[in-house]
Amino acid sequence: MLIRRDFYINGRWVAPVTPNDIPVINPSTEEACAIISLGSAADTEIAIAAARTAFPSWAATPPARRKELITGILTQYEKRAEEMAQTIAMEMGAPIDFARSEQAPCLPWHLINFLQAFDQIHWLKPLGDHAPGAMIAMEPIGVVGLITPWNWPMNQIALKAIPAMLAGCTCVLKPSEESPLNAMLFAEFCHDAGIPPGVFNLVNGDGPVVGSTLSAHPDVEMISFTGSTRAGKAITKAASDSLKRVTLELGGKGANLLFADADDHAVLRSVKRMMENSGQSCNAPSRLLVERSVYNKTVSKAAKIADSITVGPAMTAGDHIGPVINKRQWDQIQNYIQKGITEGARLVTGGLGLPEGMKKGYFVRPTIFADVKPGMTIEREEIFGPVLSIIPFDTEEEAVCIANDTPYGLTNYVQSSDPVRANRLSRQLRSGMVEMNGEPRGAGSPFGGIKASGRAREGGIWGLEEFLEVKSISGYDSTITSK
Ligand code: NAD
Repeated sequence: MLIRRDFYINGRWVAPVTPNDIPVINPSTEEACAIISLGSAADTEIAIAAARTAFPSWAATPPARRKELITGILTQYEKRAEEMAQTIAMEMGAPIDFARSEQAPCLPWHLINFLQAFDQIHWLKPLGDHAPGAMIAMEPIGVVGLITPWNWPMNQIALKAIPAMLAGCTCVLKPSEESPLNAMLFAEFCHDAGIPPGVFNLVNGDGPVVGSTLSAHPDVEMISFTGSTRAGKAITKAASDSLKRVTLELGGKGANLLFADADDHAVLRSVKRMMENSGQSCNAPSRLLVERSVYNKTVSKAAKIADSITVGPAMTAGDHIGPVINKRQWDQIQNYIQKGITEGARLVTGGLGLPEGMKKGYFVRPTIFADVKPGMTIEREEIFGPVLSIIPFDTEEEAVCIANDTPYGLTNYVQSSDPVRANRLSRQLRSGMVEMNGEPRGAGSPFGGIKASGRAREGGIWGLEEFLEVKSISGYDSTITSK
């Protein structure tokens, strides 16, 4: 059992002011795999003070030097990538091959993309020929609090900590208490890369104590949050007195519009994409809207695909799906499945209880409901488990109407071989992202939503700009100095 009570503050591992132990539970076994301590308000204050002290010199560090130091994190990752994958598999249940190929590599992927975007930032530039002496400067916002979830843990940390530090901000990360170990490994990468003391700090803890202390603290200029819509609202309220910038990446209820002319792989990739990571992705295509003429055929095909998906422990090699994060989440998914049945949706495969032959671990049966009607609970609410709702439609207009009739607006999907229709739909769907015909989003594209999915944009140049302030200067003599 790992004992990891300390926090990373001001360049070293320090003991909590008052230890408050909790176990980290391996969701494949239901057994503790580590002990950490939950931080207190006092621990959080110490970390904020360290970040505040470090800010002036980090902000004044030439951008090229910041870039060089951040590149060192990549070198550390390359040495310890397997350890990162093993850690994520153990603490949040991503199957080891998936952790190696998808979860852990989020760090180098985002880091490399941010380094490219970094070169496009003009730290100081003239406003234009019409206004001599008018300059626009991009400056780091200050001390930032980073609050992350457990479902794609390294993805979220990389999307926040890397651009924050590149921008010249200093930060305090509070990772999810469900998956703190990968974040602690990331802290070691920062340390070994030579990131100066106080630039990156980590305090483990829960939302009500560490999360809300960060959110309300007057010395924290910004909170970058990824997680539930519920916590996003609480953070926004806690942050309001200090008028800090709050960027939110929240939940989703993605619609996936599948037309009769979709290619042969459309159903396969739609179901697989839903079940990936055991359905625990904010951008999961959890509502499959199917054109009536291919509806019955699609439902049977989808059920066969779901039946072929195996469920198993994270440490077993293979392309199965793993458990969900914890008992609370497992119970919640069971409730949703029960609600689907009670409200009259047709259960075509999967359903309540553990998958056959399993006695331990938070495993959920890959589940598909057909004949789901707009307005049913499983159509409205984010389930965050391997549960797909299939809904028929007759016309394109009806499909758009159902897709957009949701509080969320993160990612929508289109499956159609008619490019005119696909292009048209990409503009009609109300969401921050639209993915069509299985094409992945390009490197450096922004990730984020609208409405109850939050309004942040992470990744690429947009993800860097979130951590910058724009300063307008007049009377500047640009013959003297430039940066
Ligand atoms: P959560 O909101 O319960 O927790 C996320 C983080 O917020 C954790 O670190 C938690 O400790 C902290 N937190 C909780 N309450 C808080 C409070 N009152 N003040 C400050 N911090 C608080 O979410 P979760 O269960 O860890 O993650 C699942 C949710 O995250 C889903 O809704 C999912 O859609 C969302 N998510 C969104 C994105 C995105 O980019 N849009 C990505 C991944 C996950």
